[in-house]
Amino acid sequence: MRITMIGTGYVGLVSGVCFADFGHDVICVDKSASKIEALERGEIPIYEPGLDALLARNVAANRLGFTMNTAEAVKGADAVFIAVGTPTRRGDGHADLSYVYAAAEELAELIDEDTVVVVKSTVPVGTNAAVRDRIAAKLKEIGRDIRFHVASNPEFLREGAAIEDFMRPDRVVVGVETDHARDVMAEVYRPLKLRDSPVMFTTLASAEMIKYAANAFLATKITFINEVADLCEKVNADVQEVARGVGLDGRIGPKFLHAGPGYGGSCFPKDTLALARIGQDYASPMRIVETVIDVNDRRKRSMVDKVLDLCDGNVSGKTITVLGVTFKPNTDDMRESPSLTIVPALVGAGAKVRVVDPEGRKEGEALLPGVEWVEDAYEAAEGATALVLLTEWNEFRALDLERMATAMETPRMADLRNVYSPDALQAAGFSAVLVGRDPVS
Ligand code: NAD
Repeated sequence: MRITMIGTGYVGLVSGVCFADFGHDVICVDKSASKIEALERGEIPIYEPGLDALLARNVAANRLGFTMNTAEAVKGADAVFIAVGTPTRRGDGHADLSYVYAAAEELAELIDEDTVVVVKSTVPVGTNAAVRDRIAAKLKEIGRDIRFHVASNPEFLREGAAIEDFMRPDRVVVGVETDHARDVMAEVYRPLKLRDSPVMFTTLASAEMIKYAANAFLATKITFINEVADLCEKVNADVQEVARGVGLDGRIGPKFLHAGPGYGGSCFPKDTLALARIGQDYASPMRIVETVIDVNDRRKRSMVDKVLDLCDGNVSGKTITVLGVTFKPNTDDMRESPSLTIVPALVGAGAKVRVVDPEGRKEGEALLPGVEWVEDAYEAAEGATALVLLTEWNEFRALDLERMATAMETPRMADLRNVYSPDALQAAGFSAVLVGRDPVS
């Protein structure tokens, strides 16, 4: 298959590289010159474990290329994937579809007979039909008479584990309207069938809904255990034990039951918001989702109070060391990270904030003004009043707690990911606040 990927971000780049690894011929397009130039030099503009080696292998095999020239990339393609951003539209919470529509309309001039235009971006119900109608209108306008097809193929990969997720997905969802689109998409994903990953064909609208419903459910699960954690703190229960006991129920499952500082990232916040707006538009309110959004927003702010409590109500002039600022480990993505609420609040309260993050600095420097970036956790702990463990990178999971405690002015930790056991913290001389567990004093 000849595949074109429009948009070479977290999803487009991983998808393009993995499709090439399936054996397809792939060309990735982006409007960003710096991204394409970097990729042409063999450099990866994002941090995603394993992507550099996979990319190099497929470039070397002549199956993968990069360009800014959409026309050249689309020529002769069996399937053109649109994997551009769909951020929250300023002001109203709806998904901003302008990038998707712009890409689609550009395609009208470029696609060949029977090309399948595949929307991989996360989009509200009705968007794929609108893409079809816009391309059809544009074709009419420019006097081209060709047949084309649309397919909705939402992506479920997680940053940080994106390659494994793409290569071994729980399922692939494809919404189609024509047999030809179905046949092409079946061929695109054929290598996965051999690995027992189900490829599920649906209508366009169902595929669009599946993506939002899945993300909203996961966000709800996280938010649910976060609220349970708050109650655990009040009643002296331990949320780690509670989550394990609950998650062992096969109907519930253990995943996404880790209490923490609230979900962030490029998907859950915007997708929950978009789903809530869709519900309002269709007079079918998504009340649970609306509440999840509200609870999660408040939660990020309430984490600041936790840190203040740990520091006797005042951080002014004190050094606070923040371990991890990306929204989760193994990514450089800072979008909607809890750190973007918590760190500025600490700076605003007069704290001298030091930040350590293995990959977050490039994105984070502009987003977190007034902080000092330090490479090493032990160095960052020197003379600090408190540590705030915000992102559970591997290097923060096995710190020598005694060494950290000795370096600090006062050994205090807000472990907002429950990485360390209360016993270990106590043994190292820390006083600590955790999430959904008794504090250590
Ligand atoms: P991103 O912002 O990292 O990448 C989008 C890219 O598209 C950018 O590089 C941009 O320059 C490029 N672009 C925009 N318009 C273009 C055009 N007309 N032609 C060529 N390039 C163009 O976004 P992302 O995180 O990869 O997300 C893309 C979509 O996938 C979103 O809808 C998102 O919700 C969805 N998604 C993201 C994830 C994730 O983990 N990031 C997971 C699943 C689904």
